[in-house]
Amino acid sequence: MDDQPVYRPQTLAVRAGQTRSQFGEHAEALYLTSSFVFGSAAQAARRFSGEEEGNVYARFSNPTVTMFEERLAALEGAEDCVATASGMSAIMALCLAHLKQGDHIVASNSLFGATVQLFSNILSRTGISTSFVSHTDPAAWEAAIRPETKLFFLETPSNPLTEIADIRALSAIAHARGILVAVDNCFCTPILQRPLELGADLVVHSATKYIDGQGRVLGGAVCGPKKLTEEVFKYLRTAGPTLSAFNAWVLLKGLETLAIRIEAQSANALRLATWLESHPQVARVYYPGLSSHPQHALAQTQQQSGGAIVSFEVRGAREQAWTVVDHCRLLSITANLGDTKTTITHPASTTHGRISPEARAAAGIGEGLLRVAVGLEAVEDLQADLERGLSLIGR
Ligand SMILES: *Cc1c(COP(=O)(O)O)cnc(C)c1O
Repeated sequence: MDDQPVYRPQTLAVRAGQTRSQFGEHAEALYLTSSFVFGSAAQAARRFSGEEEGNVYARFSNPTVTMFEERLAALEGAEDCVATASGMSAIMALCLAHLKQGDHIVASNSLFGATVQLFSNILSRTGISTSFVSHTDPAAWEAAIRPETKLFFLETPSNPLTEIADIRALSAIAHARGILVAVDNCFCTPILQRPLELGADLVVHSATKYIDGQGRVLGGAVCGPKKLTEEVFKYLRTAGPTLSAFNAWVLLKGLETLAIRIEAQSANALRLATWLESHPQVARVYYPGLSSHPQHALAQTQQQSGGAIVSFEVRGAREQAWTVVDHCRLLSITANLGDTKTTITHPASTTHGRISPEARAAAGIGEGLLRVAVGLEAVEDLQADLERGLSLIGR
């Protein structure tokens, strides 16, 4: 056997998982086919029984989707990956594959909004309950554990305040009780943070964000050891929210440039955050890459850089924040993130608008808060765009 070289992430991002057909195509092929043909009745029987590996039907597997799964697994340092139709279907599949009626989840109190809805309004109907606890306080997670707790679910850095959950500490607490740890790694991507290496059992992704990177398609994934992803696969092949071949093909191309995009976007974000921090009309900046971030040291031990999300409070309230948003000509006013195009959002009136004002205040999401998901434009142009509105505040 020849030695298998150990490739670095940049290499895996463009090479891992590719299989070529008899035509020898250089780019990954897009297999738009819902079913697969067998050579004989006996082979069909072997494929259906699982005795022989191979494709049967695209709800189970498709070669383009498999290439995406293998590439993302390689980047996360995971034994296996199963792709899903969206980030939410990845979280749903993970939960329904590993939890049953009566089970309990301990989750961070600053999760993506739809994840909170999924846990509180949908899984709760199946008898799976959730306790939401402080993102940054491992003792609160430990105190929330019940005999029926089966899963810790977190997302770090948090949205929009970029608070850091300590993946190592939470994994140690969970594993002492046989509880699984799942991390939504959407904000950092495997280029900046590999939760499995820090002790987590499973990683989920909304591939819709940085993995696509250009705001084109929805997708998701669950990565981890085969013994855990196998259950997710069984759920998906029956319940159906699998990734389409076309979306997998777009996402494969996204993975090829993921490292250079996230590194450049993070570098832009650090420059923008530093500029905002010195701006007289900005009261506070939330960015893990700044030494003023309360968890800067922890962030440095688990992520490669601060990431590309910067939040800040303008001096004032909703009116002043909206002034900044409404004077943007370049930044897109949208709640999406992960795109090469920079976006700006006012969380209190959009993504967190349905939470009561009291709960919002308790979560630290003020009326003056803005979140910027930094893209690839020149930082000077982004600054000029924000300055237009900032300069009008306090006049
Ligand atoms: C967008 C997002 C999701 C949901 O992903 P979809 O692909 O939109 O279903 C989950 N978690 C985080 C952190 C997200 O930003």
